[in-house]
Amino acid sequence: MEDGSESVELIKNNVSLVEKGSGHYGCSHYLRRCKIIAPCCGEIFDCRHCHNEAKDSLETDLIDRHEIPRHEVTKVICSLCNTEQDVHQYCINCGVCMGKYFCAKCKLFDDEVSKNQYHCDDCGICRTGGKENYFHCKKCDCCYSVLMKDNHACVERAMHHNCPVCFEFLFDTLKDITVLHCGHTLHLDCLRNLTLHYRYTCPVCSKSICDMSNLWKKIDEEIASTPMPSTFLNKMVCRFYATIVGQTPMSSSTLLRTNAKVATPTILGRYKVVILLHAHLRWLLRWLDDYCWHNGL
Ligand SMILES: [Zn+2]
Ligand SMILES: [Zn+2]
Ligand SMILES: [Zn+2]
Ligand SMILES: [Zn+2]
Ligand SMILES: [Zn+2]
Ligand SMILES: [Zn+2]
Ligand SMILES: [Zn+2]
Ligand SMILES: [Zn+2]
Repeated sequence: MEDGSESVELIKNNVSLVEKGSGHYGCSHYLRRCKIIAPCCGEIFDCRHCHNEAKDSLETDLIDRHEIPRHEVTKVICSLCNTEQDVHQYCINCGVCMGKYFCAKCKLFDDEVSKNQYHCDDCGICRTGGKENYFHCKKCDCCYSVLMKDNHACVERAMHHNCPVCFEFLFDTLKDITVLHCGHTLHLDCLRNLTLHYRYTCPVCSKSICDMSNLWKKIDEEIASTPMPSTFLNKMVCRFYATIVGQTPMSSSTLLRTNAKVATPTILGRYKVVILLHAHLRWLLRWLDDYCWHNGL
C-alpha cells in the first residue's frame, strides 16, 4: 500500500518536472528550458539559430563571422536553476526536463512536441513532420514526404544548395520547402513569390513548375490561327530578336525557327516571348533585313 502511494508520488513528481516551466522559456526558434554554451566562441545563446543570427550575420565583422558547429555543443545551462552542465534531457540539479523532445546527437531541446520531431541518421540532423511521414532518399540525400516515394525526380544532393530565390541554404532551413517536378528545390514562400510575379518556371532549369498544357494549347491554337506567310517560314531568329522585343533572351534555345510548329512554348518555356515573337515577327524580319542591308551584313 505504502509502496503504491510512493510510486504515485514519484509519477506526479516526474510529470511536474516534465511540465515545470514548459512554454515559459526559450527563444523565437524553440521553446526550451536551457541555454547552450557555444563551443566556438564560448558565449551563451538560447539556441544555435540565435547564435548564427548574432555571429553569422552581415552586422558581424567579417573576421568574427562563423556558424556554430551544432554537434559539438557539450555544455548547457538550465534556465530554471542556472546550473551549467553536460548535455542531458533532465537538469542534474533541479531535475527539470529541459526539452520534451531531446536529441542527444544534435543536442536539440524543444518543448513543442507538436512539431513531431525525429532524428534522421542519414541526414545527420533532426527534422519535423513525423518519421512515419518521411523517408530518406539516398540520391537526393534528404528526407522527403512518403507521398513522393516513387514519383519524384531525383537530383543528386537536391537540398544541399542554396534556395535559388533567397540564397538561404536549404538542407537545414526552418522554412517549408517544396520540390518541383524537375526535382529542384526551393522554399515554398519563395515559390509563391515567383508565381505572384507570374513566373511559372523553375529558376534553376526553366522547366514549367505546374501543368501548363491548357495554356500551351491555347497558344498553339493562337499560333495556328495566324499562319506565318510563306516568305518568312522556316527563317532562323536569333537571341537578338528576343532582346529587341523587350524580353530576356531564351535560355534554352538560341535559335528559333519561325515555323510555328517548332517554336512551341513547350520547347521554350517562355510563352510570352513566343507570343511577342509571333506578333512582331513580320516587322522584326523586315527590320532585320533593313538593318543588315544598312550595315552591310
Ligand atoms: Zn560561436
Ligand atoms: Zn533561438
Ligand atoms: Zn535546473
Ligand atoms: Zn537529432
Ligand atoms: Zn533524412
Ligand atoms: Zn530522390
Ligand atoms: Zn528561398
Ligand atoms: Zn528545375
